[in-house]
Amino acid sequence: MITKSDLAESVVELAQLDYHIRSGPRKKTIERKLREEGFEPAFDKDGNLCYMKGEGEPRTMFTSHYDNYVSDVSKFHAEIIEYEGATGIRGYLDNAVGVAENMELIKRVKPRGTRCNIFTNEEENYRGCSPKYGIEKVCDELEFMGFIPDLAIALDVDTYKNSHTNNAVVYAENFSSKILAKMMEEFFSEKNFHSIKVINEKSKDEAIPLGERYAAFSLCPAIEGEMHGLNIVNVNSLKASTQALEAILNSPEFIKKAANEDKKARK
Ligand SMILES: [Zn+2]
Repeated sequence: MITKSDLAESVVELAQLDYHIRSGPRKKTIERKLREEGFEPAFDKDGNLCYMKGEGEPRTMFTSHYDNYVSDVSKFHAEIIEYEGATGIRGYLDNAVGVAENMELIKRVKPRGTRCNIFTNEEENYRGCSPKYGIEKVCDELEFMGFIPDLAIALDVDTYKNSHTNNAVVYAENFSSKILAKMMEEFFSEKNFHSIKVINEKSKDEAIPLGERYAAFSLCPAIEGEMHGLNIVNVNSLKASTQALEAILNSPEFIKKAANEDKKARK
């Protein structure tokens, strides 16, 4: 049976919107939807959106790129489907998933300390041909304003590493240090997030440039299919991922401790 959820509906809507740098429908929709619920994101001339809330410590950062590897997503119809006994979303999901999760955090999770949610427009576009990701530019600007996160998490998707399962699977990967990977593994285990697999390897996403500056990693619901084409995500993977993010946000002491240990390891 298909179970509908706001988060899944949000992914479906975002997946079908072209991003076009700076002013495209995807960026406008993120902005409009946040405004409708009373949140006012700031933006720069490159189309990166940033929403900062709360005060004091810990300082957390959640990033999600809204650009696509292909510019025309109209050929990838997105929909909620029944998927091997589970509810899934099929569409071009990199990175409608991360964007929807990031919006969910803004709308539903009260910040403890200072939280910054960022939507970037050039993770895919300038990868490999520019020394800077959009995220690095945004980090430079935030640091200039005095905001240095204790922990930064990139919200993205990744393909199944081993065999596919119809259970929820979320990868925590691209850690800035081994000690952070270990601490997060213990954290997820203690809080009973059994669908989250901590992977000690590096692929390419915004956690890489983030990890050069801060304690950072990426949280990626597993997708099946083509990374840059049609793929499917289990809705339970999305839910597990956002619940884990909420659990992290609700553990300010753990964040500070993880940030300190990671800093020592990166020195
Ligand atoms: Zn991505």
